[in-house]
Amino acid sequence: MDLLDGKKTSLDIQKELSEKVKSIVKNGLKPPHLAAVLVGDDGASRTYVNAKVKACERVGFKSTLHHLSSDVSESELLKIVNQLNADDSVDGFIVQLPLPNHIDDHKITLAISPNKDVDGFHPENVGKMTLGLPTFLPATPNGVMELLKRYNIPTEGKNTVVIGRSSIVGTPMSILMSRKTNPGNSTVTLAHSRTQNLEEICMKADILIVAIGIPEFVTSNMVKPNAVVIDVGIHRIEDASRKNGFRLIGDVNFSEVSSKCSYITPVPGGVGPMTIASLLMNTYIASSERN
Ligand code: NAD
Repeated sequence: MDLLDGKKTSLDIQKELSEKVKSIVKNGLKPPHLAAVLVGDDGASRTYVNAKVKACERVGFKSTLHHLSSDVSESELLKIVNQLNADDSVDGFIVQLPLPNHIDDHKITLAISPNKDVDGFHPENVGKMTLGLPTFLPATPNGVMELLKRYNIPTEGKNTVVIGRSSIVGTPMSILMSRKTNPGNSTVTLAHSRTQNLEEICMKADILIVAIGIPEFVTSNMVKPNAVVIDVGIHRIEDASRKNGFRLIGDVNFSEVSSKCSYITPVPGGVGPMTIASLLMNTYIASSERN
């Protein structure tokens, strides 16, 4: 088994981007600017947003964090979204999901200008992705595609099974893997909560991509020998032996599955850092288009 090292690959991409930033700044242009909106104090969301802001600093992007209280109204949040849409100094921005229950995620996603939607969640960008047109690809699935590309994992004609059909991970993942691209050109099965005979379906997967949100759901009896396993899941599990009081695990039982597959992404250090790299790549594209 070999690891698909998302941490190293993400740092490679960040190094490449920082070289590009140095060169555009040398030419008198401004560095890309990513703004992030965080609502409330959810620990996981804060960690994700902080990691994104720090990555911006590492590559020389400008970043701005708008931290709003959890009782911000939907109309106030929409006002901030509209200000960011109109702000010429901002190349792209994200609104970290999930949002508190009193705010409609879809309303906010729809309000983000498609040409600043570096998360790739706006229906216009989702439509372009489906048609194979250039656009901002959603960060997590695109991060997985980049990892497969950089490790030269063959995908053409392979059976890919994606578990989970969320609009931010599973569904776009299935579309990207089936598109006429490399990586891509796979025969894709999208499994979800109503799927029957999941174990049997998974056993046919040359590439198994898991985004189900259940800790260590995938066990070795669901994995074909020598399959490529991508674990998108991320869960904080209490662990008193750790300084911070928790450890991270994925949707795949790593200790069982790793001895059976050819490649696997670890958690942490797999898909998570690739999501950040992908967001930076989208912000760079947004800035280049505006320049
Ligand atoms: P979600 O809860 O929105 O979707 C889970 C999907 O799993 C649903 O489509 C559901 O149909 C399917 N499902 C649930 N039970 C099932 C079952 N028994 N059999 C088959 N399918 C079943 O989750 P999400 O937002 O797609 O996230 C999935 C995981 O990925 C979570 O752990 C999340 O924290 C993680 N995540 C990680 C990153 C990253 O950057 N690494 C980014 C986004 C999400």
